[in-house]
This record gives sequence, C-alpha cells and structure tokens, in this order.
Amino acid sequence: MKLTELSVGQDELDEIQKVFESGYLTQGLKTSEFEDRVKKFTKSKWAHATSSATTGLHLSLVAIGVGAGDEVIIPDFSFPATANVIEQLGATPIFVDISLDTFNVDATKIATALSPRTKAIMPVHAFGLCAEMDTIKDIADNYSIDVVEDAACALGATYKGVSAGKFGRLGVFSFHPRKIITTGEGGMIITDDDEMSERLSLLRSHGAIRLDHYLQFEEIGFNYRLSDINSAIGVVQMKKIQAVLTGRRHAAMAYSMRLSGIDGVSVPSEPIDHLHSYQSYVIILSRPINRDKVIRLMRDAGVETTLGTYAMHLQPVFRRRYGLSDADFPNASHAHRQCLTLPLGHSMTNVEIDFVCDNLLNAIKLSRDDHKANYMSG
Ligand SMILES: *Cc1c(COP(=O)(O)O)cnc(C)c1O
Repeated sequence: MKLTELSVGQDELDEIQKVFESGYLTQGLKTSEFEDRVKKFTKSKWAHATSSATTGLHLSLVAIGVGAGDEVIIPDFSFPATANVIEQLGATPIFVDISLDTFNVDATKIATALSPRTKAIMPVHAFGLCAEMDTIKDIADNYSIDVVEDAACALGATYKGVSAGKFGRLGVFSFHPRKIITTGEGGMIITDDDEMSERLSLLRSHGAIRLDHYLQFEEIGFNYRLSDINSAIGVVQMKKIQAVLTGRRHAAMAYSMRLSGIDGVSVPSEPIDHLHSYQSYVIILSRPINRDKVIRLMRDAGVETTLGTYAMHLQPVFRRRYGLSDADFPNASHAHRQCLTLPLGHSMTNVEIDFVCDNLLNAIKLSRDDHKANYMSG
C-alpha cells in the first residue's frame, strides 16, 4: 500500500491533448484557467501559478523584499525548502519550536525570536492544519512585519471558515504528487494585495513586461512559470478537489477511530474552528517505540510509511551553520524521531484502513525493545 493515492488519468490526458492542439505550451490560457479555479476555491483576489511551491516561496520572499541580513521566522519542523528559500536570499531562518498538539509553530515562542532584523514570519500549515493565524497576525501587525504562509500542504484547509493562504500577505500551495492535488510539479501563490500581484507576475517571468512586439526588462526576474501542460492537469484536478478532500477526511476519521486510545499512539487533532486538509495523516509513537523499526516492519508487510517531516536543526546543513541543539527544540526533536505518516487516500476502504492498523499494532508490539540505542544515534 502506497503512502499517497494519485488520481490522474484519462481526463487529465484529454486536457493535455487540448494544450498540444493549441500549439501553445508554456504559461498561457490554460494556466490562467487553473489560476482562476484556485482563486475561486480559496476566495482570493489573485493567484499566480509557479513551477513549484519552493519557487513560489522564493518569489514571495523576493516580492516582499527579503534580502541579505534579514531574518525570517519559521517553525523548526517542516520540509527544509521552507528554510532554503530564506538562505538563498542571504537572509537567516530563525527556527522556532512547535507544539506537539498541532505540529505547528508554537506561537507563544515567536516573541522571543523577533529582532530588529525580522522581516517576516513564515508559518507552515503542518500536514494541512492551519497554524494559529490570529496570534501570528497580531504579532506581525504589532511589529509591522509581513506574513507569508507556507501553505504547501493546506489547499482545502480552513481556519474560521477562511482558506489557508489568505491570512498572510501571500500564501503558497504545492502541487507535488504528495500534496492534495497535483500537476506533477507546480505551485500557486495567492494574495489579495494588488501591488504584490503585479510584482509576482513581473518577477515570475524574467522581470519583463510585454510591449507590442517584444519584451522590455524592468527587474532582475526569474523563470518560475508553470507550463500550460502542467496547468491542464491542475484544471482537471481542481474539479475533483472537493471529492478528494472529503475522501481523505473520511479515511482520517476512520484511522482516528481505530487508533485513539491505543497505548503508545497519539492521533492528529483538529482543533475547533479548523478544517484539516489531511495532506498527511501523522501519528506520534511514544518513546519506548522505535519509529524506524516500525517503518521497516510495515514496509516488509507491504505498507509504505515514513517519518512526519524534518526537524531542520537536526539536518547537517543547518546543524553546521547554526550549531543548534535539541534542548532549544524539544518538541520538533521529538516529532522528528517519533512521528509516523500512514498511507492516506481519498478512496481508501475500511478494509485497507484495518490492514494498515493491524500491521501498525503488530509492528509497534515488536518495536519496543532496542529503541534506546537508535534514539540516541538518530
Ligand atoms: C512540499 C512542501 C514544500 C515544497 O513544495 P514543492 O512544490 O515540492 O516545491 C514546501 N513546504 C512544505 C511545508 C511542503 O510540505
């Protein structure tokens, strides 16, 4: 059983065929159509497709003016692209520990991470659950700094009925195959800010504006466009998104029913006012259990699982640069070592969920022994 269930087939192929027949392959009308669908779905004023969420995040930070010497506050627990895009601008990521209830940045710890050089806060909506955006926005407004949401996993997630990506000045989604919907590779920046929207579309395509017969170059830009071929897939995927979200939610609820109350397992929470997109269904295995052994045993039983996501201070690249210690990030450290992502798909049956859970409980039973040695070396 695979970690993710894809839903791409003939409908997507038919839409790609139309792009081929149009003779126009790069960012064009199909990309506009895809952007319109995301705009409508998230109720945002502007949407700009990018070649990935990583390029979308990079572009967003450039658009708000992050540069050398600036600091950007992010959670320690995320896919490291969140930090890389900050580094690539000569700026410094300031890591903040997470809360284990939500896997999101612990908003009470943001204040101590602020400095006169703080340019922005980039909360991550971990696995599709919105961060505490009210508190984060209050802090940002108080200190006149921007918020860019890494909403890579959170298309379809809401907080108080408002779509992820709508709380910050900019919000960025991913269409990597492991996310809610896919375009193969792809991303999308949403914003309600007219000035940002204009800057994004300029910078996304070489910093150039189109005159009658050729371009004129106004800024040092990028080519971060999404092709119409990828966007064709996105157009069809957006038609299915509600069904995909409902199906994933169903599977997540079924898992939680089976697994809550099991000794050594804590299931993901969905606090009041939140709608989780369940990009991943992530549990925490409590400490006598050797998570990596569970992953191995599950793989041997034909069930693909993986870690949750990464504590960035534990990655060699950031460890070398900043020499951060586990003591500064007790929750992210624990999550890095003890989280487990279970397979999740929109059309998962109860039989499949039982199969995963039976194997999980069995693997847990066999993984309480040599834990300590592994934990210390990981
Ligand atoms: C997947 C992911 C990214 C990167 O998305 P790509 O589209 O693959 O570039 C960034 N941040 C988070 C939190 C992610 O989960």
